[in-house]
Formats: sequence, structure tokens, C-alpha cells
Amino acid sequence: VPELPEVQRVVDTLAPAVEHALISRVELVRPDIVEPPGFDLASRLVGHSIASVTRRGKRIMVCLDTGDRWFIHLGMTGRLTVEPADNPRRPHTHLLLDLDEGSRQIRFVDPRRFGGVRWQGPSTSSDLGPEPLTMRPQTLARRLRRTKRAVKSALLDQQLVAGLGNIYVDESLFAAGIDPRRRGCDLSPAEIARLSGSIKRILRRAIRAGGSTLRDYVDANGQAGAFQTLHRVYGREGQPCRKCKTPIERFVVGGRSTHVCPKCQE
Ligand SMILES: [Zn+2]
Repeated sequence: VPELPEVQRVVDTLAPAVEHALISRVELVRPDIVEPPGFDLASRLVGHSIASVTRRGKRIMVCLDTGDRWFIHLGMTGRLTVEPADNPRRPHTHLLLDLDEGSRQIRFVDPRRFGGVRWQGPSTSSDLGPEPLTMRPQTLARRLRRTKRAVKSALLDQQLVAGLGNIYVDESLFAAGIDPRRRGCDLSPAEIARLSGSIKRILRRAIRAGGSTLRDYVDANGQAGAFQTLHRVYGREGQPCRKCKTPIERFVVGGRSTHVCPKCQE
């Protein structure tokens, strides 16, 4: 469930707390969360300090003082927090990194284990599309014009644009007044410009509100988000549209549950 705004909040709360900290010990409780399989994560981390923590798409990117990078993916239920080492351990804590003298730890918890850690090393190559917050409208237009897929499915494709998931795609398409079933190649330049603006505005608002907490999501300080109370369509099936009072409908597009106002979106 965590999408760009939630991951950005984790980064914004984690980075100031851990940048320049030395990783003094690594405890990997579940080695199978690490990719590539069998990779000796501890030997690459211990004795090095964290140069930066940033976001790329829905991934948290940690850069070490060696220039090596590794990613944490929160999956559905992952949480990444920094806390005192004597805090009780939550169930499903798969990875613990002692910082400095060992009084603080970064902890990765993930009950459903769709998340995990990926070692990338010094390479800066990426399999992800452009970042929606900085992407120019022309870039989105070029990418959508090439696809016959439903615009909903296209926006969920991380290679087309990175960081969006079901919540923010539904909210952005509502804000732009676009039916999610329409084909990317059929959208007019004006519609794509509107969509591009809506995506940016909604992502920024969601980041300010601390992201959406539907079940498990918290930031690095353990704080839940509040944007779910501002959703216009996502999770509001049968409730009146906040613009026109028509009941919100839910149907499946490209295998994903999709929320729409049948009157405001065409
Ligand atoms: Zn409406």
C-alpha cells in the first residue's frame, strides 16, 4: 500500500535522524528478505556510515559513504523506523541496524513480507520511469500517447512513471475528470496537462498530510498519516461524490479495484 507520499514521509523522517550515522552492527533475522539471495549484507554495511537516505519511486534508497547503494521496499505492510535499541521488538522484525554506539537502531518490520532489501552496489542505473513530482507534462504526454492500455493501468506501470499506486492514480484521475478506462493514446493534450497537474497537486497534499494510513503505514517516527480522510474516491464506494453527490462507483480495470465518480469523470 505505501506509495510515493508515504515513502517520501518515511524518508523525510528517517534521513535527518540517520544521515552520517555509523552502522556498527547488523542483525538480519530473515535472510530471505535480501536480494540477491544469499548476499552478505552485514559485511557491506558494518563499519560504514550512511551518506544519504532518499526516495526513488516507491523505494527508499540508502547511499553509503563507500558510494554503494541499497534499497528498502516497504511492500504492503513494511515499516522502517528509527528507535532506541532497548525498545521492545515488534513481531516480524526482519532487520536491525545498530547506529553509532548501539543506542539507536533502524528497524525493518514486515508481517506479510512483500517488502525487502535489495543491494545495488555502485551502479546508478534504474529500471524506473520518471519521478511524477518533477516530470514535465510533455514527458507524461509522450509516454501516454504510446500506449493503448487504459490510462489507469498505464499510470500504475512503474516504468512509465515511478511511485504511483492504486490510491493516488484513482485520486488524480478524479481530480482531472478523466475516466480511468480510457486509453492513454486517446487522451487530448489538454487532458494530459490537467492530469499532470492533478498528480503533482495530490501527491504534494498527501505528503503534507503525512500520507494515507489504511492499515499499517507509519513514518520513521511511528506516526500514522491523515490523507485517507481527504480521499475523494478511493475507498468511498457508494458514498456521495464530494463535488456532485453522485454515489462513487467501484469496478475493476486491468485487474485493479478502481474508484470513480460516473458523473465527474468522462
Ligand atoms: Zn461527482
